[in-house]
Amino acid sequence: MLTLRVRIASGLLLVRALICTPTATAEPIPRADLIIRTYNLVGLPSRQLHAARRTAQSIFEKAGVTIAGWRDCQGGDRSSTAAADDCQDRVRPNEVAVRIVRTPPNWPNPWVLGFSHVAPHAGTSWLSTVFADQIGETASRFHLDPGTLLGRTVAHEVGHLLLASTRHPDEGLMRANWQTISLRRHVRTDWLFSRSEASQMRADLVARSRALAESIG
Ligand SMILES: [Zn+2]
Repeated sequence: MLTLRVRIASGLLLVRALICTPTATAEPIPRADLIIRTYNLVGLPSRQLHAARRTAQSIFEKAGVTIAGWRDCQGGDRSSTAAADDCQDRVRPNEVAVRIVRTPPNWPNPWVLGFSHVAPHAGTSWLSTVFADQIGETASRFHLDPGTLLGRTVAHEVGHLLLASTRHPDEGLMRANWQTISLRRHVRTDWLFSRSEASQMRADLVARSRALAESIG
C-alpha cells in the first residue's frame, strides 16, 4: 500500500540522507519479461495513460526488468464489452493486472494512492489497484504531471507483487509515504527501486517465466 503524507508546514519535515543506491543492470540474474494488464475503469485519457506507462517502464528498465507489453483490458460489464476485450484469457504467470479506479466511498484513509493483493508465495501475486482521483488531486495540488505520478504509483504497487512483500523500506520508490517534500523536490533515487529490490524482482520474474514455460509445454 502506498500512502501520501502531506504536511504543508515544511518546517516539520526532516530531510534524511538517501541511502538507496541506484540500480545497476549488470546483475547475473537474467532479464525476464513482464506483461501488465491495465484496467482503465475511470476513462483516463490515453495521453495520461501512455505517460504513466512510459514512467513505469523507465523505472522498471533501470531495475533490469523489461515490460514486454501492456494489455488494454475492459473489465466491468463483460456482456457488453467481451467482444472488444483482449483480456478474457486467464492471467499467466508472467502477467500482473493493475486496476485504475476511483477511491471507494468511506475509504478509511484519504491519502492512499493504491494497494496490492500480496500472496504469501513468490510468483503468485498478480493484482494491484490504484486510485485515479486521489492521484489526480495530488498531482494538481503539487503541480505534478498526473501521468508521471500515476506511473510511479503503478511501479510501486507492481513492485509489491514482484517482491511478494508488503514491506516498505525507509527510502526509494518502495517507501510507504511519499511526503510533500519528496513530491516537490526532484531526487532521482526517490523514484527508483533499490539494487536488492531489483535483484529480487528479476529472480521472481525468472521463476514466473519458468512457470509459464511449464504451463505451456
Ligand atoms: Zn506500498
